Amino acid sequence: MDLSVVIPIYNEEANIHALYDRLCRVLDAMRISYELVFVNDGSRDQSLALIHTLASRDPRVRYIDFSRNFGHQIAVTAGLDLSSGAAAVIIDADLQDPPELIPELHQKLQQGYEVVYAKRRSRQGESAAKKLTAKVFYRLLTSITNISIPVDTGDFRVISRKVVEALKQMPEQNKFIRGQISWIGYRQTCVEYDRAERAGGATGYTYSKMIRLALDGITGFSDAPLKAATISGFLVSSIAFLVMLYTLYARFVSHDYQPGWASLMISILFLGGVQLIAVGIIGEYIARLSANVRQRPLYIISDTNMPMPHSTDPGT
Ligand code: UDP
Ligand code: MG
Repeated sequence: MDLSVVIPIYNEEANIHALYDRLCRVLDAMRISYELVFVNDGSRDQSLALIHTLASRDPRVRYIDFSRNFGHQIAVTAGLDLSSGAAAVIIDADLQDPPELIPELHQKLQQGYEVVYAKRRSRQGESAAKKLTAKVFYRLLTSITNISIPVDTGDFRVISRKVVEALKQMPEQNKFIRGQISWIGYRQTCVEYDRAERAGGATGYTYSKMIRLALDGITGFSDAPLKAATISGFLVSSIAFLVMLYTLYARFVSHDYQPGWASLMISILFLGGVQLIAVGIIGEYIARLSANVRQRPLYIISDTNMPMPHSTDPGT
């Protein structure tokens, strides 16, 4: 098997047929052997039925059906875990990532790279708020992490078997795959493209899912927020110390001391705010620590037509 195409699916009934057609046209022209791995991440529409129909007609169509919605990053992880291709493509189902770019990505891989990611030159049909938050987030992330996570790239990319195997060795529960792939290293390169509008249906990424992904990315690859909490603690304490000196001076030396309600309130509220932020930052890390300590499986598969890894066969 030359190529596994991993496609996370969450309520994509409007796009599955068009996606399948475009993928097959592109991949057939490449004259390689491939499998299409559809990972149904707890869709509540007809996505699963459509995938079953495709699978019954085309043996190259593989599916993994989750027991519930586990999230995009985990769906991709499951697809990679079970895939067997010499290389793997990660692609969104909504046709925002053009399948027509795959030959170019794959060709670069043949030139000796282990990762070829697709970098967005422009994005269409997305709200100004989403574009702005994404832009700010990627730049913030690069500035506070010590690995170079490329800006303006999603998960659309081709990776070699070596990278897939390395990903499988990374046991974290809070996945941020584009960060993990940067962390792995090897020779990486990019191809630029213009990101299209979503073909049909609505985005499955709610703001809360986006915030969680952003926090997973930051906490997974940087300790800067914890350090910022410490530094702001020192800063606020030194300001408080200076204010204390001034208060003592005003009380005992210059005698222009006024009982100050406003200054008291301000300092209490300010300190309280800083403390709560610091506790919150620590909490984000502790929550992820405890998730990793629990060691639950990342996902539960309810049905698949792919061979499962680590099968609990009593004979072996
Ligand atoms: N997706 C998923 N689980 C989710 C949300 C999304 O598997 O909980 C899939 C979705 O079907 C699509 C990809 O992840 O293939 C990207 O999602 P979407 O297009 O909604 O995100 P956006 O492009 O709006 O950031
Ligand atoms: Mg999309």
